[in-house]
Amino acid sequence: MESIKKILAAMKEVASHPGQAVKNYRQKTGQGVVGCFPIYCPEEIVHAAGMLPVGMWGGQTQISQALTIVPSFCCSIMQSNIELALKGVYKDLDAVIMSSPCDTLKSIPQDWGYVVPDIKVIQIVYPQMRKIEGGVEYLKTEFLRVKQAIEAITGEPITDAALKESIGVYNRHRRSMREFCSIARNYPRTITPAVRHLVIKSGYFMEKSQHAMLVDELSKELKKLPPEEWQGKKVVLTGITAEPDALLEIFDENQITVVADDLAQESRQFRTDVPAGEEPLLCLARQWSLIEGCSLAYDPQKKRVEMLIELVRETGADGLIFCMMKFCDPEEFDHPIIAEQFEAAGIPSLYLEIDQQQQSMERERTRIQSFAEMLNS
Ligand code: SF4
Repeated sequence: MESIKKILAAMKEVASHPGQAVKNYRQKTGQGVVGCFPIYCPEEIVHAAGMLPVGMWGGQTQISQALTIVPSFCCSIMQSNIELALKGVYKDLDAVIMSSPCDTLKSIPQDWGYVVPDIKVIQIVYPQMRKIEGGVEYLKTEFLRVKQAIEAITGEPITDAALKESIGVYNRHRRSMREFCSIARNYPRTITPAVRHLVIKSGYFMEKSQHAMLVDELSKELKKLPPEEWQGKKVVLTGITAEPDALLEIFDENQITVVADDLAQESRQFRTDVPAGEEPLLCLARQWSLIEGCSLAYDPQKKRVEMLIELVRETGADGLIFCMMKFCDPEEFDHPIIAEQFEAAGIPSLYLEIDQQQQSMERERTRIQSFAEMLNS
């Protein structure tokens, strides 16, 4: 148990002080850092250049100036990113990579250019016709632009060999994360919802092979322990993110454990490997065609619903919690379909509105308590 505490403390240090983690990386390697906006980003290209890709999923901060730049109906992740940029938090970044899968993100690159003109924006357009070969080829050309932009920053070419190596590092990290999520289900007292989130979130601020090593060590230490008994309820989370931590702590207070997730910030990042192949940029582009069940990846068949029902059944979950990011159109389109199908399948579900800046959690506390009581009745 001491080793587990030590690993979690190291992760907490990184996740609570990402700015320091970035400085440490720079000092240790002499290399730069690139911010990666949600939802998807070809981090392997940044990694292959020896730079550190860091996740930019907002965070809790007092929004005082951002609303002079972005509309108030912009999701709280983007409000935070703009506010933090205005406060100079990202001043150590060499560039940011942004894609435009939703209406909000389509305007953020211009806002960013106005707020922090000295931090370069590298934009990508992910094609929605992603299953056809033309879509894959198109995305390859987008990734080539990203590669050239990164090369212009470092002044060094990114070789195919380095790209293949980085794809291998990321696929190994994805496997480590999937294995951890599966093992964590047996240890609901040690791996509470907030701890589970911490393990995943810390990976956004660490070099991926280092993070994979820590996660593997954690999984190994967990497996030495006998599975923990759990009298409470089990849920699957879906949505963009389940932050802030205060919300995840309410699950624990109500004896609710998270047995699996379909969150954009969590499992959607590591459930699809980059396929093997000779041309690394083509392999990276093909991964986008293989992603299933994400509101940001166009799918007229809405396989997400079946995938969620299957996930609930396979993990023995008692219900689903829809973590609805306030003002997130793609998720709002999916919710009615999921709610209807879950009702038809007789699986309880709860809708929670997520706002990273929310000060009081009393409304959520009441809703989660009622849901727990309903599951227990
Ligand atoms: S609106 Fe939704 S998809 Fe777009 S940036 Fe915000 S959370 Fe992400």
